[in-house]
Formats: sequence, structure tokens, C-alpha cells
Amino acid sequence: MSDQGLRIEEVSAGYSGLQILHGISLHVDAGELVSIVGANGAGKSTTLRLISGLLRASAGTVTYAGERIDGRRPHEIVRRGVVQVSEGRDLFGPMSVDENLRLGAWTVRSGVDELLDEVYALFPALAERRRQAAQTMSGGQQQMLAIGRALMSRPKLLMLDEPSTGLSPKLTWEVLEAVRSIRDRGVAVLLVEQNAAQALGISDRAYVLESGTIVLDGPGSALAEDARVRKAYLGL
Ligand code: ATP
Repeated sequence: MSDQGLRIEEVSAGYSGLQILHGISLHVDAGELVSIVGANGAGKSTTLRLISGLLRASAGTVTYAGERIDGRRPHEIVRRGVVQVSEGRDLFGPMSVDENLRLGAWTVRSGVDELLDEVYALFPALAERRRQAAQTMSGGQQQMLAIGRALMSRPKLLMLDEPSTGLSPKLTWEVLEAVRSIRDRGVAVLLVEQNAAQALGISDRAYVLESGTIVLDGPGSALAEDARVRKAYLGL
């Protein structure tokens, strides 16, 4: 475990007196693809919200690259390279793909055109639709655009909350393959997915979250073979 990545230690958090996370600890090292899997309501989105600075911890610490980020404001956390793909795909509907992507580069001073080329190389479907209004694209294309927009801020750690929601199995596979390519390009990824089998299949490591507690962790391939995981999350 290095100090270059994200470390959550003994964190508790919740909403107006209702505790959701009960002392969880996890880490994501530089360049790793790590998943959090678990049932509805386990606290997966809450964990991402906490890291993004949208929710305060009531106990414990969150550090990134050796510095505390808990208690910092969301835009300060983004500036450190910790970026969550926007939920609900809240793109600027009437604006083109190109314009949406450029808006993602608000923290970047130079090299925006090169970044755009990288995103288009990762998502050829977006390259074909540069001038198309975001709101006229399919759900899968919009999800790719939301991920592309987050990449335009040159993240060091990218967080995704259920990127496969509402997508066909084929598109889910395309999006998760893109997530793997993002990791291959050196960006660490923290992925929250209901689709446990596919998430574990692409992950270096994973955590299983149940009722706000981490009950298991290990290499993605090992968890996919674990009898408890297979029964509870893979329907096997
Ligand atoms: P899902 O896949 O359903 O989103 P999850 O594991 O991501 O599951 P969370 O969204 O983190 O779960 O929710 C954990 C618990 O916190 C749930 O019981 C949920 O009802 C509750 N919760 C989430 N957001 C709020 C909120 N803004 N105010 C109060 N309770 C909330």
C-alpha cells in the first residue's frame, strides 16, 4: 500500500443522524482498478459521495496522496485529481459532444486538444458524433460522454457509480471494457457496480460492502470464486 493513492480508514458516515457506513477501511493504489460490490442500499454510493466531498465523515480519515481530503470541498478534491463521473448523466443536453467534453477540461490549462483526441480514441462512437447534441444520443453514448467528460479533467483517480445502469448487456460490456482501458492508461479507478460478475472480472481488487460494513476483500478473480460471493451476488 503506497501513499500515492486513496486511503479510507475507519470511516463512519450517514445522513441526518442515520449512520450508513460503520467504520469502513479501503484503499486504491495508483493505477489500480478496484470495485465495490454489494446489494442495494449497502452504502456504495454513500462511500463515493464521501470521497468526493459531498458528505462528511463522522469518524475516520480519507487521504489522497498522503494528504487528508475529508472535510475539503468537492472542487478542491477534483483539483487533486479525484474525480467522480457525474451521476444521472447530467450533460448539457443541447450542447454538442465536443462542447461537453471541452467543459470537462475546466481544471486543465494546456493540452486540451490532445486530451480530446485521447477521449475520441477511447470512444470511437463519440468521435463520429462530435457535432451531435448530447441529448439526441442513446443512453450508452451519453454514459460514454459522461466518462469522457470526467477524463478531460485528467483525473488520477476516476470514480464511477453504476455506469452500466440502463444499458444493454452489449453496451455494458463496451463501457466496462473502456473502464479497463482507462486503467491501462495509468488512471486508477474506483468502480461501484451492481453487475458483480462483470465488475469482479475486470478488477484488480474488490471489496464487498454489506449494510455499511466491508465483509470481504481480495483480488477480483478470487472474490469471483468465493462461495459466499457466488451465492449472494452472482446468483450461482
Ligand atoms: P444503490 O445501489 O441502491 O444505490 P448503495 O449501496 O449505493 O445502493 P446508498 O445509495 O449508499 O446505497 O444508500 C445507503 C443507504 O443510505 C440507503 O438506506 C439509502 O436509503 C440511504 N440514503 C441514501 N441517500 C440518502 C439521503 N440523501 N438521505 C437519507 N438517506 C439516504
